Amino acid sequence: MIDEEMIKAQTSVAAHEIDDSGIWRSSDGSMSSDIYDIVFDIPDNVTERYNLKVGEDRDVLTVLPAATYHKECPNCEKKTAEEVLLIMLEDFHIYVGRCCDKMIWMPNKSNKQWERRQR
Ligand SMILES: [Zn+2]
Repeated sequence: MIDEEMIKAQTSVAAHEIDDSGIWRSSDGSMSSDIYDIVFDIPDNVTERYNLKVGEDRDVLTVLPAATYHKECPNCEKKTAEEVLLIMLEDFHIYVGRCCDKMIWMPNKSNKQWERRQR
């Protein structure tokens, strides 16, 4: 059984811990979960940059192939492989960059709610 609170308490989900089918396994092997069941804490740098409240988190809306939206990794610029996943949240999406082991958070440009918040 997966304890949701335990997953939420997990401070960071590393890109290398997520497999092609969207299953997350902690590095020490003690926990595993479908990405859909994980609540992602917004990283400090994202909170700061977009003036969000400290300690906010986001549920996963859907998981898509990243190649549809990003031809290359936004961090290391390696060509996006077919199996790379994009985790869609309400106002952000996360590029699961196993190429450089980074979870890359980006705002959803088309999200009206996010645009309103910027004014
Ligand atoms: Zn990369």
